[in-house]
Amino acid sequence: MTVDAPFATELLNAISNLVAVVENGAITYINPAGVSILAAGGAESLIGRDLAEFIHADYADLIALGIEAFAEEEAGVPLKMRPLNAAPIDVLLRVQPLDGGSHMVECRDITSFIQSAEEARRREQRLAGVLGAVADAIVTIDVRGTMQSVNPATERIFGFTKAEMIGQSVNLLMPVEHADTHDAHIRDHMEKGTTRAIGNTREMIGKRKDGTVFPIEVSVAELHEGGETLFTGVIRDITDRKKAEAEIQYLAHHDALTGLPNRNLYVERVERAVHRAKRSGKVLALMFIDLDKFKPVNDLLGHEAGDLVLKTVAARLKHCVRESDTVARLGGDEFVAILENLDHWQSAKVVAEKILKSVPEPIVTATGDEASVGTSIGISVYPHDGHDVDELTNAADQAMYAVKQAGRGNYKFFCQLPERNA
Ligand code: GH3
Ligand code: MG
Repeated sequence: MTVDAPFATELLNAISNLVAVVENGAITYINPAGVSILAAGGAESLIGRDLAEFIHADYADLIALGIEAFAEEEAGVPLKMRPLNAAPIDVLLRVQPLDGGSHMVECRDITSFIQSAEEARRREQRLAGVLGAVADAIVTIDVRGTMQSVNPATERIFGFTKAEMIGQSVNLLMPVEHADTHDAHIRDHMEKGTTRAIGNTREMIGKRKDGTVFPIEVSVAELHEGGETLFTGVIRDITDRKKAEAEIQYLAHHDALTGLPNRNLYVERVERAVHRAKRSGKVLALMFIDLDKFKPVNDLLGHEAGDLVLKTVAARLKHCVRESDTVARLGGDEFVAILENLDHWQSAKVVAEKILKSVPEPIVTATGDEASVGTSIGISVYPHDGHDVDELTNAADQAMYAVKQAGRGNYKFFCQLPERNA
């Protein structure tokens, strides 16, 4: 098909790219789109002017090579143009030699393309910035569990470099027993499409490069990228939180001064001991131990000396019982011992006698003074004297009170109280 001149003009008018003919560097023809791209009033104001006038100064060296040089770049050369009284624009410039030594220049406005590419790059940088700044490890894996991407926190938390993780199984980051569970989750997903781990947060154990393990909290999100299913896990190192929780748990169950179990833990331990005694048929004894005339220690030697006496007594009491038995401080100068696995209730006698001998040993205070306190001990026995914490504690308390009444420094069994045998 041949193209006649009016039709060719129509085509050049309709095209949205700048099309110009340049002879010896000067514009001899420019289409309407070119006039509008260069923000000129009409073609006549551009004819005869150097094309170089409209190229941004940043590309002056390039344009100085002559327009012919561009003809070698078939794909075009990206550069900036400087329209009349308008903001610079990004173009892709292509040059083709024409017969007779002139050149056809074509410029495609790629400003919006460049802008969106820059915007995409900025978005990526922002995302990388965010991923780099977060304290949590963010790991993306495919359906086979192969790590596809990891953020800098993953390197920090697990001690592996990015290169050591990418392409490896995520099992690298967990102990074998957890890795097995994880494999099962992934298999489940592949076979049945179930996603048990998705959406909720679970506590697991992580493993560092050096083999040490630590508690982690993991939440997993499923995402689809180009037809592929990926899982992104946010992994938080919860070592500090676990330590704080353990600390709170400890404080809630122990006495700050002596480190002995407090009343809360005492109750729990007695309940468990009763349960065990019920099954084993062995005797369980509760020993209520209150110091005699402890107040005068505080009054005469000071509160600090009193504290030292309480701490020393705590240590001595622990010494008098078996490792598996419990000594607790219920408050003030009131202690209690839970003696388990006794063959006979009278076995508690031996312990009571040990306590009566050991506790009053002199205690030298920080100021060089000597303190000595005796104890009164009341003993209740399961199952004879009660069946639960309250009954047994009450009985031991009554027996202890009877010792105080009888002059202190001794022990009594609840079952031997005169009112019990009247
Ligand atoms: P009793 O022979 O009848 O048991 O008399 P006591 O002097 O031992 O006095 P009691 O058992 O009635 O009171 C215990 C005292 O222990 C009361 C309080 O001043 C003191 N106390 C309670 N808690 C602490 C503590 O944490 N540190 C010190 N230093 N003293 C305490
Ligand atoms: Mg006392």
